[in-house]
Amino acid sequence: MVHPAPRAPERSYYECCECGYREMTDSLESCPECDGRTRNIAVARA
Ligand SMILES: [Zn+2]
Repeated sequence: MVHPAPRAPERSYYECCECGYREMTDSLESCPECDGRTRNIAVARA
């Protein structure tokens, strides 16, 4: 049940340009909701 801790979370936020859907993932080519274009928005670094 223990997740191996990644050294640093290297994920990016992707936001759909069409419907505003957001997902934090490594890559997202198209929106799973509407199949629209997505853009990479910067990860907020704490
Ligand atoms: Zn969308």
